[in-house]
Amino acid sequence: MSTDHSLLEFDHVDKYFGETHVLKDVSLDIEDGEVCVVVGPSGSGKSTLLRCANRLEEIQNGEIRLDGRSISDPDADINRLRQRIGMVFQSFNLFPHKTALENVTLAPRKVRGIDEATARQRAEELLADVGLSDQANSYPNQLSGGQQQRVAIARALAMDPRVMLFDEVTSALDPELVGEVLEVMRDLAAEGMTMMVVTHEMGFAREVGDRIVLMDEGRIVETGAPESFFENPQTDRGEQFLSKIL
Ligand code: ADP
Ligand code: MG
Repeated sequence: MSTDHSLLEFDHVDKYFGETHVLKDVSLDIEDGEVCVVVGPSGSGKSTLLRCANRLEEIQNGEIRLDGRSISDPDADINRLRQRIGMVFQSFNLFPHKTALENVTLAPRKVRGIDEATARQRAEELLADVGLSDQANSYPNQLSGGQQQRVAIARALAMDPRVMLFDEVTSALDPELVGEVLEVMRDLAAEGMTMMVVTHEMGFAREVGDRIVLMDEGRIVETGAPESFFENPQTDRGEQFLSKIL
């Protein structure tokens, strides 16, 4: 069935922090099943863009829609919305006094009222999906950073989100732990999850991304398919960005 909207739509979005204009007329449509990789220099507004999609920040102009419905409307049901948009951050923020399994079951039980046995079964499946079956009863401080981040991904997936947002989820990890987290994200993409991914991992961006979005100073300055973006950027900003990172 075709629809006249994309799954996640940013429609002429402006965001200010006080006087500072941090998102400037940002429009971006993300299709169902698409992996959209957002790149750009530090301070360009990447995190703010994701945070606005999850209503962690309010926008001042424009609209953000999920499946055709406004997210940014002050009357939108924030709790319901957050269930539909999973987010994973650089810092994993697991509950330290809860096991991996309990971290994954907590929100489904508390927010969605799912019974313990069902939540537990689903959590076990999700921990298996992220390669952590054997760590279900471990506490966060008994896990490596890569393992903790995989638990954080399982925790977000436990709410059955429509879209997953990833904000530099490997940036705080020791280099040898980055691959295992990217692997989980690659699997998720292959299963058809719609994803917005802010990352400095250009190999991942190129291989897994369906589209690259380059931000600079609060604007989207270039979007393109990975091959064309990396081989043949269309803007000076794109060329400059690539010359610094590649
Ligand atoms: P990026 O993720 O691309 O590094 P951010 O979205 O974190 O960029 O930041 C974009 C701009 O917004 C920066 O100039 C940053 O200083 C500013 N900014 C981010 N969060 C806040 C905040 N809570 N209050 C004020 N300014 C902020
Ligand atoms: Mg950021």
